[in-house]
Amino acid sequence: MKPKILITDRIHESAIKEAKKFADVDLDIGCSNENLVKKIGEYDALIVRSATKVTKDVINASNLKIMGRAGVGLDNIDVDAANKKGIKIVNSPEAPTIAVTELVFASILALMRNIIPADRTIREGRWEKNLFRGNEVYGKIMGIVGFGRIGKEVAIRARAFGMRIMAYDPNITKEDAREFNAEQVELNTLLKNSDIITIHVPLTEETRGLINEGRLKLMKKSAIIVNAARGGVVDEKALYSALKERGIGGAALDVFENEPPVGSPLLTLDNVVLTPHLGASTEEAQINSGTIVVEKIRNFFRGQ
Ligand code: NAD
Repeated sequence: MKPKILITDRIHESAIKEAKKFADVDLDIGCSNENLVKKIGEYDALIVRSATKVTKDVINASNLKIMGRAGVGLDNIDVDAANKKGIKIVNSPEAPTIAVTELVFASILALMRNIIPADRTIREGRWEKNLFRGNEVYGKIMGIVGFGRIGKEVAIRARAFGMRIMAYDPNITKEDAREFNAEQVELNTLLKNSDIITIHVPLTEETRGLINEGRLKLMKKSAIIVNAARGGVVDEKALYSALKERGIGGAALDVFENEPPVGSPLLTLDNVVLTPHLGASTEEAQINSGTIVVEKIRNFFRGQ
C-alpha cells in the first residue's frame, strides 16, 4: 500500500512530482488549523513549510508516522507533542548550503573589485578606471568561523581560488580541517591572520556578539568580514565603528540584527556590500528544500 501524504504549504513542483512517484499525495495549501485537525487522521505523512502551524491538537488527532518541514527550523511544529507520539520529523537544513556559499564569494569579489560603485559610476556617465583598483583573493588567507556544511563548501572554493584557509570551530578536529586543506586554529589566531573572514555559525547564546569590538580590533586593517550567518553574531555597532574608522577594510552583510536594517548607519558606508538575506534565494535551493524532505520521507517508508 502506498503511503498517504498531505502537503499544506507551497513547496516546489518538482518535489510534489517526486512524492507522487511513491505516495498518494493530496494538496491543501493554506488549510486552516480546524480543517487540518479534521482531516489529518487519514494521512501517514504531512509536509509543511512555515505557514502551517502543526499544533498539539493536529498531532494528537493524527496517525502520522513522519512529518517533513521543507526548510531549516522547526518553529512551526510542536516537536514535544510529535516526539511523545513517536512521529519522526525531518527537515532540509542542507538545502541552501551551495546557495549561501556562492553568495559569500559573490559578495567578497564584489567588495574586493569595487563592482557595485563601478557599475554605479558607469550608469552616471563616468569612466573612472583609476578609482577602482581592487585586490585579488589569490594567495590571501581565508578565515572560516564555523566549519559545518557551509564553512566546508566555502573552504573547497577558497582553495580553488588559490587561498590559504584557517578554520575555527570548537566541534571539529585537526583532521576534519585538514581534509578540506584548512588549518585548525583558535579564533584570535584566525582574526589576526586572515585577509577575509567569513562567519558560518548558528546564532546561539554563545555566538551572539561573537565578533565584538575587541575581536574586530584584532583584525588586519585591510581585512574584510562577511556575515551570511545570522544578524547578531557580529556586533553591528562595533562593526560600524571599525568600518568608519578604517580599522578594517570592509564588510559584506547578508543578515542584520533587524531586518530590514532601517536607519542603520551601516547603510551610509561605502566599504560595505549589503544584500537582503539572499543566502537561500536561488531556484536550486528552493527546489532542494522540498525534494530533500520528500527524499527523506521516501527513505523512511522504504526502511519500514
Ligand atoms: P552547520 O550546523 O552545518 O554548521 C555550523 C557550524 O558552526 C558547526 O560546525 C558548529 O560546530 C559550529 N559552531 C557552533 N558554535 C560555534 C562557535 N561558538 N564558534 C565556532 N563554531 C561554532 O550549519 P550550516 O548549514 O553550515 O549553516 C551555518 C549558519 O548559516 C546557520 O546556522 C544559519 O544561521 C546560516 N544560514 C544563513 C542563510 C542565509 O540566508 N544567509 C541560509 C542558511 C543558513
